[in-house]
Order: sequence, then C-alpha cells, then structure tokens
Amino acid sequence: MTHGDDKGLRTPPLLAPIEIVIVPIWRSEEDKGRVKAAAHMVKESLLAWERRVPGRLRVHVDDREGMKPGAKYYEWELRGIPLRMELGPRDIDQNQAVLVRRDTGEKRSVSLSSVGEEAADVLHLIQESMLIDARERREQNSIRGGITYDRFREVMDGDGAFVYAGWCGDEKCAAAIKEETKATIRVLPDEEFRSADPPKTCLKCGSASTTEALWAKAY
Ligand SMILES: [Zn+2]
Repeated sequence: MTHGDDKGLRTPPLLAPIEIVIVPIWRSEEDKGRVKAAAHMVKESLLAWERRVPGRLRVHVDDREGMKPGAKYYEWELRGIPLRMELGPRDIDQNQAVLVRRDTGEKRSVSLSSVGEEAADVLHLIQESMLIDARERREQNSIRGGITYDRFREVMDGDGAFVYAGWCGDEKCAAAIKEETKATIRVLPDEEFRSADPPKTCLKCGSASTTEALWAKAY
C-alpha cells in the first residue's frame, strides 16, 4: 500500500523476489537466437559480478515467446520488479543495454562491460529514494506532539491519521478510546520512530504518560 502507484506494485529492491528482469527484444527469427543468448550471457555476467563483490542480485530473463515486449513490461511493472533491462539487436551491436527504473520510469543506456556495477548502483538509488519517499509519506500522515483528545476525535471522525500520543498504560483508557473513536494502538514505536519531544500525558485521562503510542483506525 505504501509503495504502489497507478501501474501496480513498486517493490523496494531489498524485498523484491527478482531485482532485475532482462527482456530480450527481437523481431526476426535471426535476431531471436542471438538476442536470447545475449540476455542469458548478461545474466551470467551479473551473477559473476555478484560473486566478485558481495551483493545479492536476483536476476530473471523473460524470454517467453509469443508475447510482445510491451506486454512483458506491463506485467513486470504490475508486479513491482524494481529494474528492467531491455536488450535488443541494436543494443547488442553497441555493447549496451537500457535500464528502466520501476519507481521513476527513468531510462538510461549502460555499457555491457560495466553492467554489474551500473545495475547495483541503480538498485541502491531506488532503495534509498523509496525509503525517503515512504518516510515522508508516513510523516505527512502523522500527527505528533500535544494533541488534545477533542482534536483527536475530530481527526478520527475525519480523514484519520497516525497519531503519536501519550498513554498511561491503563487498558481502560485504550478501551475507552476504541469505544469512542474506533482508533486503537497500532504499535508502541521503537526508539527510532518515537517523537523527538515525547508526549508527557495520556491522551485520554491526562495522567502521566508511561509510553508513546501510535494510534490509528484499522481499515
Ligand atoms: Zn490514561
């Protein structure tokens, strides 16, 4: 839900079952043989590169026949595979391939001589930029610091949000909040996720907070 867009899923490279899908492109029977062979060679060179530098490239060659390249692109985009490599006869003649990022759609030609480094660099960029986006989106939908219970109820009646607020630790407060707003504690955030200025009082009863809690409605 965090990473999808209109084209489907976008999977962060570290989680993707396949990080790079290589799509060989051919029109004539004559090209088919050499383009497919080149695609498998590129895969081997990516795996060989991985052995030289510890990495974890997961590569798949989509050389299915009777399916147009565009249909393959669409399918892999839907499935959220982070990086696509397009390899046609002219690319091979020029010792290059085209890399297409799933997250931004950005395309670039890379030399087949350095394709391992290039692919690993791009995957790293995708991972970083998706993480930054996800954090930004989370904070845009979060309310931290000093919310009153009245305001909390308005928020939960409206569009909802992730609300970081104090909790005294008493189940009765949690139950009352759930009863009145349908919001529940989603998580007691780890230090990394806690607010810089932690809440001092319980959202519901106003007594001293023993922990910061993240409240939201489940859908
Ligand atoms: Zn309380």
